[in-house]
Amino acid sequence: MTPVIFQLPAPVGEVLARLAAAGFEAWCVGGCVRDTLLGKRPFDWDVATSARPEETRAVFAGERLVEVGAAHGTIALVPPEGHPIEITTFRSDGEYTDARHPDSVTFSRRLEDDLSRRDFTVNAMAYHPDRGLVDLFHGREDLEQGLLRCVGDPARRFQEDALRILRCLRFASQLGFAIQQSTGAALWEEKGRLQTLSHERVREELTKLLCGENAAPVLREYAGILFTLLPELAPMKGCAQETPYHCFDVWEHTLHALEHAPADAALRWAALLHDTGKPARKTFSPDGVAHFYGHPPESGRVARRVLTRLRFSKREAEWIASLVDHHEDPMPMGEKALKRLLGQHGEAFVFTLFQLQEADLSAKAPGVFQRRLPDLEGSRARARAILERGDCLTLGDLALSGEDLKALGIPPGPEMGSLLRRLLDAVQEGGVPNQAAALERLALCLWREEGYKK
Ligand code: ATP
Ligand code: MG
Repeated sequence: MTPVIFQLPAPVGEVLARLAAAGFEAWCVGGCVRDTLLGKRPFDWDVATSARPEETRAVFAGERLVEVGAAHGTIALVPPEGHPIEITTFRSDGEYTDARHPDSVTFSRRLEDDLSRRDFTVNAMAYHPDRGLVDLFHGREDLEQGLLRCVGDPARRFQEDALRILRCLRFASQLGFAIQQSTGAALWEEKGRLQTLSHERVREELTKLLCGENAAPVLREYAGILFTLLPELAPMKGCAQETPYHCFDVWEHTLHALEHAPADAALRWAALLHDTGKPARKTFSPDGVAHFYGHPPESGRVARRVLTRLRFSKREAEWIASLVDHHEDPMPMGEKALKRLLGQHGEAFVFTLFQLQEADLSAKAPGVFQRRLPDLEGSRARARAILERGDCLTLGDLALSGEDLKALGIPPGPEMGSLLRRLLDAVQEGGVPNQAAALERLALCLWREEGYKK
């Protein structure tokens, strides 16, 4: 195999050198070695060392250190510039009784112990600028073949730590790798252990999986594993859509939508969940055509249940679930309705909704996309033009505030709120310019002469 040039960031080289000068072994390990061999720039560099945590602390006394997981022997060194470098003592994990946390962590002085406890062969390589690559499990061959293979016996490794099951699918999605046969078989055998994982961990891994380039093929092949964690999604598989707009069942349509959605976490989650309410809302008309009336709010309910269980923050859950709620809304063509939409939901939400609708359209029967895309594009172009012009979209954009109305003698309260909204309507309809003097005149006129009606 051709030698690979590792370009270690200077602070990483320095960490290795300082540990060596103090008499310890230190290697770059894991993701940074894998990514470099793949020709990618590693996101961060992890170092494994024979030094015990207290020895590492002594070597870097005076530097900025953060305890990342002292019990597991990880200390992060924060260089003046660049990412923190995690320095972890070589260890061999002890017994696992809960499929997640090793009961004990045994520190080791030997690199090979540390590499043996790592999950996949492609993640179990070490590199040192003077000593080269250590690849005890043929990780490099697996990298070249694009294969994910457990280090050691797959079933045992998944029994020890069920998170590895999800990590396997996540790496398959991110790297576009196939899963080696016995590793793949063990995924299915051990999937029941996924129940032992914390919801937060599941959320993090699934989000990475969903944002991977290969998310759709991985979820297609391992749907049954995903459904162990998200049983609400299972009824989509096999739920046929006997309508002129669809050529796939709900699950296959979902996977196609996911594939067409840009890799933004909220958008990908919304794509995954957007039709979860369809199976429960399926009916037929006498002509044998299927209908899914009311499925968006039903999908929104399912989405809220799933997202809350996975401990998404309230804000994130509501954002994603609202995308689901609105995924079928016809996007307005008229300026006024578009301004109202932008004012109500904000630019970021509305443009994410355009992306979701485009992905959803791309996953329908041939012809539907071509027929419906021009309207979606037209609406999106108008929305962009509105934003570029800096048109007035919310009460906050009005040149007249509640305070100004108070100064005119209009008392604060719900009626003032309605008056402000009427002024906003008038500006958006083009009936009055967004200027303080003009708005004052209109406000007083509405208030005094018409008599105020809500
Ligand atoms: P990423 O680019 O997503 O950070 P990574 O490979 O660096 O990928 P991390 O989660 O940062 O993934 O883990 C660093 C390394 O630690 C892995 O490459 C792997 O060697 C090891 N590792 C992490 N989690 C586990 C686990 N649950 N079981 C065994 N080894 C693990
Ligand atoms: Mg990492």
